[in-house]
Amino acid sequence: MQLFSFRRQFMILITGCLSLICLVAKAEFQRFQQQTNEPGSLSFFVVGDWGRRGLYNQSQVANQMGLIADKANIDIVFSTGDNFYDDGLKGVDDPAFNESFSNIYSAQSLQKPYWFSVLGNHDYHGDVLAQLSPALRQIDSRWFCSRSFRISADFVEVFSVDTTPFVDDYFTNPKEHVYDWRGVLPRKDYLSKLLKDLDYALKYSSAKWKIVVGHHTIRSAGHHGNTTDLVTHLLPILKANRIDFYINGHDHCLEHISDADSKIEFFTSGGGSKAWRGDIKWWDPKELKLYYDGQGFMSVKITKSTADIKFYDVFGNVLHRWSKSKELIDSVTHKNTYT
Ligand SMILES: [Zn+2]
Repeated sequence: MQLFSFRRQFMILITGCLSLICLVAKAEFQRFQQQTNEPGSLSFFVVGDWGRRGLYNQSQVANQMGLIADKANIDIVFSTGDNFYDDGLKGVDDPAFNESFSNIYSAQSLQKPYWFSVLGNHDYHGDVLAQLSPALRQIDSRWFCSRSFRISADFVEVFSVDTTPFVDDYFTNPKEHVYDWRGVLPRKDYLSKLLKDLDYALKYSSAKWKIVVGHHTIRSAGHHGNTTDLVTHLLPILKANRIDFYINGHDHCLEHISDADSKIEFFTSGGGSKAWRGDIKWWDPKELKLYYDGQGFMSVKITKSTADIKFYDVFGNVLHRWSKSKELIDSVTHKNTYT
């Protein structure tokens, strides 16, 4: 009897350990529980394609971010990548870090605990491990850059995706660029693990709002257009898990596409410095809610029931305002089910 009991307890212990290992093995996204300034509300800015030592209106965009953050009481900031032009950072001591980040986004209202950054293709031209290094937090404690992270605030979760390794061209036709693929090779394994981890994290997230942030476009009327490698490999996972928003940079513009096919709202915030005036492809006007070919940034405020999006230009004017209500949509869906 005693032996049986011991065996049973041993089996329970082993099963428990295996489930724990399973959880640990699948939970690859570094998770941050975000405290919010206002209870029940997460507020943040998104800026992309910015690091040019203040040039190309980077300083003016930063100045407006500071002024508007004063009133908006934001919790955090996201960067959609291409953080340091033209070729990322040379190392953790590269002065570009101060010249393009700390000295530029210097307003008191922008001194938030975290600036969460993903990597862009230009960041991969430099020392990627330097941008990912915690040593940069010794220089400026706001900086956090990672290939995979998730920010949780109960009702909303934001997941990062490292999109550069998806793009075939960077491997098959790199032109004059040298990419730092440390940590990415073998590429096939890296991508399949990333997709598996993201799928798992999204599937088991209980957040009411799910947002994914990456550098490259999935839907865009801008210069680069849709990134076909992401449309093929990433979009099906985003659709299957019914995410609300995908937010990216890469195209140097501000853009909002309501995609009829996927039901996902696509936002491009890539106007942190140099913009590409007049560089636009045709897009169905029913879906294209905003295309602005100048500099600026985006603000997001999420509560349990609403998401409010605004795009600002370099003068602080609101270019586009858009809201979504979850409760309304839920009730409409519910009503339709019974009619
Ligand atoms: Zn880019």
